[in-house]
Order: sequence, then structure tokens, then C-alpha cells
Amino acid sequence: MKRIVVLGAGESGAGAAVLAKKEGFDVFVSDTSMIKDKYKKLLDDHHIEWEEGHHTEEKILNADEVIKSPGIPKEAPMIQKLMAQKTPIISEIEFAGRYTHSKMICITGSNGKTTTTSLIYHIFKSAGYDVGLAGNIGRSLALQVAEDPHHYYVIELSSFQLDNMYQFRANIAILLNITPDHLDRYDFKFENYADAKMRITQNQTPDDCFIYWNDDPVIKKEMEKFDIHAVRCPFSELKEKGSIAYIEDGKYKLEYPTPFNMEQEELSLSGKHNLYNSLAAGLASNIAGIKKDVIRKSLSDFPGVEHRLEKVCKVGGVMYINDSKATNVDACWYALESMKTPTILILGGKDKGNDYSHIMDLVKQKCVGLVYLGADNKKLHDNFDQLGLPVRDTHNMVDCVKACYEMAKPGDTVLLSPCCASFDLFKNMEDRGDQFKAAVRKL
Ligand code: ADP
Repeated sequence: MKRIVVLGAGESGAGAAVLAKKEGFDVFVSDTSMIKDKYKKLLDDHHIEWEEGHHTEEKILNADEVIKSPGIPKEAPMIQKLMAQKTPIISEIEFAGRYTHSKMICITGSNGKTTTTSLIYHIFKSAGYDVGLAGNIGRSLALQVAEDPHHYYVIELSSFQLDNMYQFRANIAILLNITPDHLDRYDFKFENYADAKMRITQNQTPDDCFIYWNDDPVIKKEMEKFDIHAVRCPFSELKEKGSIAYIEDGKYKLEYPTPFNMEQEELSLSGKHNLYNSLAAGLASNIAGIKKDVIRKSLSDFPGVEHRLEKVCKVGGVMYINDSKATNVDACWYALESMKTPTILILGGKDKGNDYSHIMDLVKQKCVGLVYLGADNKKLHDNFDQLGLPVRDTHNMVDCVKACYEMAKPGDTVLLSPCCASFDLFKNMEDRGDQFKAAVRKL
């Protein structure tokens, strides 16, 4: 019996173990951290041996194949040992792909993955398709393949997942954009990270489609390096060189395979970045044969994704928007760009070496006040105080929301789009967004 060792027992690892067991492998799961109770139960229910808090080398190095969780870097000592002895290391998605013939719609990019994946899932669901949500969001693909199979899967793929994918084939692949991120995992070479993203096209055939952002110079450059066998489906904001999805005269248009159009203003998601996401999602749905009226309705009634330009409520004529997911300057740029009323911007948190010059012009154009929210706000003072806008300095969410409330006038918008990670004051970006919403609702 072949032995499969799963390293990391989160959603993907636990699911992979269940599928491996079902397929008749000798399975062992090892995690250097503590395993969550729900995953322990899942493994126990399937009589799968596991360990937590450490790796037992002799139970791992005898594997015929290893399934690695995306969170474990290749530099980890156990991975290095496995690589040295040439044990194949694959991702959960690669493994699951071997046991299904379902259609795979895969989404990657530096920004916009969750939004686009959720929007496509919403459209497919509204069309009555039998579809599962997997990858970084939803349940593990392997677990669904093992226990609750679907005809279609919509899968959010990070570059870490793509790293250990070899034979997996995406029937529809979407590459939204490539901007520098996670370079610490790619030997600090942007090209390595960009190459990892391009893996989404590997194994595609002329029966498949590759949807990508036509305006992205990095994608353009990468496409010259790789053989793309799939049908190319570029989208862009305006109609240009080969794009088959774009905006023209206020209309959202898809040219392929079925001509489609709707009013841009009917799209439920706002902002330039979400226009790209809506174009990519519409194209994928059109290619999958979903009827025009369903696409149109779903693009206009999609409720959006929590913590991403999420409208909380209006208080005293002021709209409060939670964009806690904006943990880098680029994401905040897109949020500000979409603001239509005078904005009070909440900025701050754990700075990952931000260069704020990128948003300076937009802050000048759109903002009527700034509220800093961080353990240490010095860098924000150094960068933004010179603009002469009213500024408040806060160190917890209740004080921050109170400062916004005092500063805002009817007709203004208060936008939490902090450019920074949340770990200095909050558990994570969800906790930051939840605290924001709770404080706003108490006003
Ligand atoms: P991901 O899953 O890739 O992190 P999300 O959909 O969660 O992406 O969006 C994260 C942030 O990135 C959002 O708050 C938004 O400001 C920004 N964003 C979303 N879509 C795009 C896009 N197509 N291009 C650039 N930025 C985007």
C-alpha cells in the first residue's frame, strides 16, 4: 500500500487526508502546531493516524508522496529533507484533481481573488449549477471530491497553492493581476512570484480558456515567456487590442462566446478594481454557458464580500464603509478611487514598509479628514500631516469611530481602508472589521 503523508492539518490538509484514505492509501498526518478540534474529529472519524506539536521524522520520510499545506514554506527543515531525498511534494488541489473530472474554474492574482471567486460562485449558484466553492475560501476541494462532489468547482488559488501543482488542469483560468507580494517566499525575486502565478495556465488545452487582465504589464511580459495553449480571453477597462470584455459608452460588454451587454451602473460592486473583477467573472460565466439574464441579474444583485468595501450603515447622513481587507497601499488606492463623496479615511496598523506616495494625490482629492488608528502612528503623522487636513490620533476602535463621528458632516463617507496589517491592535483583519462595524452600530 502506498503511503501518503499530509503535512499541516488545516482545512486543506485534513480534507486531503480524508480523500487519500478513501482512495486506499496508508495515510499519516503531521502538524507542528496544535490541530483544531474539528479537524481532529474528522481524522478520527476516518481512522486516520495524526500527530500534533512536532514532526516524527521516521513516519514522514518513508512517504511515497507528501501533500503539503500551502502555509508551509519550502525552506522548512522537513520539506528540505524530503526534497533532498526526492520525495514528490504536491498540493491538496493537485491531489484532489486526480480524482475528479469536474470542470475547474480557477482564480488567482495578487488582489481580487476572494471577490471574483465569490462573485462567480454566486452567478453559478443563481444559474442552478451544481457548484462547489474551494481553495483559499470555502471547504477543501479534496473533502468535497471525497464526500460531496459537484459538477463544477470555483477555486481561489494563492501562489503558494500553485507552487506545488504539476498536472492539475484549469478548464477556465483567471489571472487578475500581478503586483509584488509575499516576496519572502520567492527568494525576494518578483519574477519567481510572477512565474508561480502563471502556473495557472499549465496543462491547459485549446478546449480551455485563459482570462486575464490585458492592462497588466507584468502579465503581458510573462505571457511572452510561457506557451499558452488555451483560448486567450483578455479583459480591460476600455476596448483595446484584442480585449473581449470591457466598458464602452457606459455599457459593460462581453464579446465572447455569446455577445452580452448591460449598463455599467447596474453592477452591484463599485470601484474600478471591482469592475475588473466583474468583467472576469462575467466572462467565466459566459464561457460556462450561463444564460444572459442570469448573468445580468447576478452581477447586479451580488451582495459583496465582508470586509471589502462593505457598506455598514448610514449614521446622521454619513455612510460608514468597512474595507478592513485593504492591508496594503494598492488596495486603499482602489478604495479611495471609488469614493464619490467627501471622505474621512481611517489609516494605520502594522506597516509592511509602505510607500504612501502612491495614494497621496487621491488623499488630497477625496479626503476631508484623516483618523490614524495604530499602536504607533508616527509614520502616518510624518507622511500625511503636511497635507493640512484635520487629523486625529487614536489607538483603539471605539475612540477611532468616535473621532470619525465628530469629524464627519452629513453627506460624507467614513472609510476604513487602513493600508496596513491589523496585528498591532487586533487579532486579524476580520476582527478589525468586526470591531469597526460594532462601534459604528453603537453610535
Ligand atoms: P484577495 O483574495 O486576492 O486578497 P480580495 O477580493 O479579498 O482579494 O480583495 C482584497 C483587496 O484588494 C480589496 O479590499 C480591494 O481593495 C483590492 N482589490 C480587489 N480587487 C482588486 C483588483 N482586481 N485589482 C486591484 N485591487 C483589488
